[in-house]
This record gives sequence, C-alpha cells and structure tokens, in this order.
Amino acid sequence: MKNNNKFLSCAGLAILWFFSVCSNASNQVQSIRIWPSPDNTRVVFDLQAAPQYKSFSLENPDRLVIDLSNIGGGNALPQLDGDSQLIKAIRSSGDDNSMRIVLDLASKVTPTVFALTPTAPYGHRLVIDLPDSQRKEARPPVSIRAARDIIIAIDAGHGGEDPGSIGPSGTYEKNLTLPIANILAELINKEPGMRAVMVRTGDYFIHVNRRTEVARGQQADLLVSIHADAFTSPQPKGASVWVLSLRRATTEVGRMLEQTERHSELLGGVAEIIRDSANERYLAQTVLDLSMNHSMVTAYQAANQVLAELGKMTSLHQAKPQAASLGVLKSPDIPSILVEVGFISNPKEEKQLRSASHQTRLAQSLHRALKRHFELAPPADSLFAQQRSREHKVQAGESLSLLAQRYDVSVDALRNHNRLANDSIRIGQVLRIP
Ligand SMILES: [Zn+2]
Repeated sequence: MKNNNKFLSCAGLAILWFFSVCSNASNQVQSIRIWPSPDNTRVVFDLQAAPQYKSFSLENPDRLVIDLSNIGGGNALPQLDGDSQLIKAIRSSGDDNSMRIVLDLASKVTPTVFALTPTAPYGHRLVIDLPDSQRKEARPPVSIRAARDIIIAIDAGHGGEDPGSIGPSGTYEKNLTLPIANILAELINKEPGMRAVMVRTGDYFIHVNRRTEVARGQQADLLVSIHADAFTSPQPKGASVWVLSLRRATTEVGRMLEQTERHSELLGGVAEIIRDSANERYLAQTVLDLSMNHSMVTAYQAANQVLAELGKMTSLHQAKPQAASLGVLKSPDIPSILVEVGFISNPKEEKQLRSASHQTRLAQSLHRALKRHFELAPPADSLFAQQRSREHKVQAGESLSLLAQRYDVSVDALRNHNRLANDSIRIGQVLRIP
C-alpha cells in the first residue's frame, strides 16, 4: 500500500499551508497507524481534537469514505505507519476546513468507524475496524496446519554472585540446579513436539524478574524453576513443588493492569485494541483473569505430575503442591512451578544431590512428569494435541491387525507404541496410533 498524494503540486502545498494557517479549523490528522491482525485490520487516525465525521461505503471498486469537518490539513496526509493486505491505498482531498479520506479496499467489508477519547499515551482518535473475512478463508484448515512445539522454559535457580543455599559440606545450590536443568533440557529436546529454553546457561546472576521475562519472550507453555531447599536444622528432607498463590496472582494482575504498556506483552495483539480506551479496561481485566486461571490450573496439574514422579525416586517434603508468593512464580500469564529437588541442608541429601546419577534421575523424573502433563492437556495448536487426535477407541469385533491395516501401520508399531505385552485388546481401550 502506498500514500497517493502525488497530484499535489508544490504551489498547491504552499496555498494549502497558507489556508491552514489562516483557517480557524481546530483539528488536524497527526498520524495514521495501521494494525493488521489475523482477522481484523484497525486503522487509527491520531487527531488534535475530537473528530466531527461521517462515513459511508462505496462499491466497484470497494471504498470506505470518511468526511471530516472542522479540520485543516486538506490533502496532506501524514506518513502511514503499518501495512495491511486489505487496504490498497489511503487517499485524501479537502480544503482548509474539511477533509475527505478514502480507503481503497481489496475486498468488500463492513467497517466500524468510531471515535476514542484520549488515553495515555494516545490523544483523540478516529478508529476504523475492518473485519478481514478474506484472510480468514485463506487460513489452512486446522488438520494441515503445522503443529507447534510445546515450549518449556527451564530456570536453574540462582547463579553468579548468588550461590543460593549452601550445604553443610559447602555445596552451592546454584551448582546443583544447573546440571539438573541441563539434563532436563536435553531430555525435552529429544522429545518430538517439545522444546526446552534455558533461562540461565552458565554461572551468572539473573534477576528474578528477568527469568519470567525470558519465559514470556519465548512464549513458554510452562516455566520450571529448579531449586534445592534449606533449613536451619539438618533434619528436614525431601522434595516439594510450589505454585503461584492466588493472592499473589491477584495482586500481580492488578499491578499489571496499572501498567497499560504491559498489556501488550501480556496479551499479545489483543492488547493493542483493548488499551485504546480506559472504558475497555474491564475487558483487559477479563482476558488477564482468564489467562491467570489457565496458568494456575496448568501449573497445579503439572505440579501434581512432578510430585507423582519425584515421589517414586525420592522422599517428598510435601505431598501436595504448595502455594507461594515467590518471585519467580509471579507471572499470572505464564504457568510456573518451582521444584525444590531436596534439602541441601540435610547432609545425606546434600551428598545425594551432588551425585551425577541422582541429578540424572531427578531430571528424568521431571521430564516424564512434564511429558505426561502435556499429553493429558496439550495446547490446542501443539504437535501433542495433533497426536492425541490420532487415538482409537476399540469397538466390538476389532483386532490389532485389523486396526493396523485400517491406519496403515504395522502391528508391531501399534503394539510398541501402546506398550502392549501381546496382541489382545479390549472393547473401550484407547489406542494411540503412531
Ligand atoms: Zn533456591
């Protein structure tokens, strides 16, 4: 799309400038922003004052016309910021007191035109929403869309000048958390449909806020922070898993809503639309609440899986997920869990935690738990979700060989994929199709 102002001569510009200086038109278009999204294109005209406007649509070719009165600037439209396939061009004409803006559209749409009052950082605005019906149709059907990886952000607790807790024989917590995190990342990266992102890759300090930012930047489905516990006496032992407390989550949501500029990173594209008006704040609140509920449910379920796996190989300090107000667990938008793999202050566990084989077994448990969690509750657009849809519930009269034939896989593959000891299957049994 381009700005069609070529017909304006230098002399014309000079005259227009003269008239706009002399006219008493109080308004002026200051900038034009175009925000395309998958199903909507929003065009925002930033204005000096509240707009007086009328709008109508024309066909053959499809156009949207906006007539603004009591406005100076005439033909001179500011530079466009943004682009959209739906808008072929934006043109303008006018005199010292009125302006006609024409949007040349690529297809017939039903636009919504409305004015918005100032909300920092924006002033008066005229907004045009163009529903993008064409693009919706162009989207591939869900079944053939490439399925994405589930992203696990792994945070090795502490680092650099922050050693974390120190064991009775001088072990630093930061030196235990990193190898466990590394092994876990390796296991996750071997898993088709899963990808690990390391928050800390070496022995350096990262602020706790930065840790959640890394996870958010990578659009992590889950943030797993790895720590070792400590107490003033040597007796306490065992692992525990912590999740964000509801009170902390509610406080954080409130705090984030105060920082309007953060809506965008929290909510993705939705925020650009939401933050345009103070009146729409309740909408941001709703979206954030939904996101928070999802995060907390996800974290709690994942925490339970982690405890179930850890309980098989080490003692548990707490059998249920614990709610905490810890720094790394403060993102209401990213499901986060904090795993205390044991007590570094307990001499026996300190020794255990130092051993490479124990670290590997801890990482394997975490890996199994996370995989199990996402198999049960895969994000809708993930490979895990796609694989899950390839499931078959055994009906009367079906045999393994019949199903292998129907799904075009070998009996062996079907048997191995479902970890079947033999070829007998029962009615109602759910088989995963490789
Ligand atoms: Zn720690």
